[in-house]
Amino acid sequence: MEKKNALENAREQLRLAGDYLEIEENILEYLNYPKQILTVNCPVKMDNGEIKMFRGYRILHSDVRGPGKGGVRYAPEVDMDEVTALAMWMTFKCALANLPLGGAKGGITCDPSTMSDNELERLTRRFTSAIIDVIGPNKDIPAPDMNTNEQTMAWIMDTYSMQVGTTTPSVVTGKPVEIGGSLGRSDATGLGVAFVLREFCKRRNLTLKDQKIIIQGFGNVGSSLAKNLADWDVKVIGISDITGGYFDKSGLDIREMLDYISVNKNLKNYNKNERITNKELLGHQCDFFCPCAVENQITEDNAESLQCKYIIEGANGPTTPKADIILRQRNIEAIPDILANAGGVICSYFEWVQDLAAIRWSLKRVNNELENIILESFDNVYRMQEERNISFRLAAYLIAVDRLAKAIRYRGFYP
Ligand code: NAD
Repeated sequence: MEKKNALENAREQLRLAGDYLEIEENILEYLNYPKQILTVNCPVKMDNGEIKMFRGYRILHSDVRGPGKGGVRYAPEVDMDEVTALAMWMTFKCALANLPLGGAKGGITCDPSTMSDNELERLTRRFTSAIIDVIGPNKDIPAPDMNTNEQTMAWIMDTYSMQVGTTTPSVVTGKPVEIGGSLGRSDATGLGVAFVLREFCKRRNLTLKDQKIIIQGFGNVGSSLAKNLADWDVKVIGISDITGGYFDKSGLDIREMLDYISVNKNLKNYNKNERITNKELLGHQCDFFCPCAVENQITEDNAESLQCKYIIEGANGPTTPKADIILRQRNIEAIPDILANAGGVICSYFEWVQDLAAIRWSLKRVNNELENIILESFDNVYRMQEERNISFRLAAYLIAVDRLAKAIRYRGFYP
């Protein structure tokens, strides 16, 4: 049975790229470990007066190319290994997109679905004050991830600003535009995935409108990907969330599903199309399968049963290394997370730049620059995989790890 530890997967991906590039062992060892791990225990007063302890993490994997950047995740499964893996992937993602940022991630082990908004606010503020020494506009800049959103970022920004004594929008990205957020940020990851999917079709002479798409996950990334595809008249035939999925071979009504989700938190009682399980969703025939939920969804156990032609990874770490080998044997090509879902961090970078310079960009400028950067990365990866006849994932890691190794060599090992 394959182990599904995200950190082991991230390390294996690094190792594969390092071996291929014949990178010095000491540089690989350096990248194998996070620079800094902060674990905090946060006492939070619940609405019933009880004090509950929550464990949180902020992990800086690397700041060799710039300050740390990465989201904050609230989920019951959050643990140190998961947050470390996510921080490593951020390092590779920022390097691949050639952003002047390093990789970090944070998380709190909690079940936000059982908590009130007031409890979440108290937890977020307490967590922020507990990690305040390690975050900051030039140190490490948090952003939203699973189960955190604009409101969470506003609480972090406010708590940080109150403690340092000056309003500091550049301490987080993914904020509401009213307090220094960037136009386009909430849509950026899904839009980036859509740009990548469209470009892939162009390179392979596939007619975009003829493609049948299945999306796992209908949160920030999955819903925005679905919306952008629907805007381009591309058929999304399957969608799921944690409560299960829906299928319609003639295409789901995405706008109706988006309206439904804006009122109800999930798709549980949507009931307009054929209901299917997440397992069935993965095994359904389609052209593109887009995992946009959580890690470890495509594994050694189910990679043989996938019926798609291509995978575009919206989620972080949805495919395990063993599944990757099976997919390659089956000629199912996968566009990796560090390339496909980079739209979020690219737009976060724009938000940070706007906040530091105290200027505002138009939505058109944000989306144009996002398209330019993600397609440039795509082009680099596409050419590399073609030239060397390797997978898209290995090609993406080769570019990212090579850039990191060069930065480490130039900077040297202090002292
Ligand atoms: P989210 O919390 O907004 O949405 C997650 C979605 O996945 C929800 O619809 C949830 O119900 C569903 N889900 C959870 N577990 C599932 C399961 N086992 N099976 C099927 N569906 C399941 O989170 P998000 O921000 O959309 O992030 C999704 C993924 O994308 C994560 O891996 C995250 O790290 C990654 N990501 C997010 C961003 C971003 O900007 N939000 C950027 C890059 C990568």
